[in-house]
Amino acid sequence: MKIAVFPGSFDPITKGHEDLVRRALPLFDKVIVAMGINSSKKYYFEESERLQMLRDTFADAPKVEVDTFNVLTAYYCKQKGANFIIRGLRNSTDFDYENTIANLNATIGDELETFFLMANPAYACYSSTVVREILKGGGDASLFLPTAINGKPTITHP
Ligand code: ADP
Repeated sequence: MKIAVFPGSFDPITKGHEDLVRRALPLFDKVIVAMGINSSKKYYFEESERLQMLRDTFADAPKVEVDTFNVLTAYYCKQKGANFIIRGLRNSTDFDYENTIANLNATIGDELETFFLMANPAYACYSSTVVREILKGGGDASLFLPTAINGKPTITHP
């Protein structure tokens, strides 16, 4: 079984994240979208809301499992029997950050390989930060959100 983990904060998930997962699906038997829970980190959305948005987004995708984790990503992958991590690259800032993390996971992980997918050009400027800024400013962020969660109350009234 080729199992990949796509770890992230997903605060909230955007069309960019969704696109990445769907493009990775043909490469693996299962993709686990793993939402990080870090008690010292301040999130915009509640844990349950972030999770529900992930579940709604991938409700139609049987090869996608949605889960949460609060240990080191490399340890989580081992627990789940996953040998692959998926991450996305939008620009050189992402690259510098992701490069460090991928090296770390290659060092401490057990046969753990990070697969990078370039962002879909249509979504390369999408980020959770942009969505949060729009919502904080009272704007409509639906363009950036997976179609399955558009218009949900949690998004319009965070
Ligand atoms: P983290 O807090 O772990 O960076 P994010 O949820 O912000 O979590 O991002 C998770 C992954 O998704 C990262 O690899 C990031 O580069 C990637 N990503 C974020 N937005 C996009 C996008 N629009 N297109 C492609 N990849 C993206």
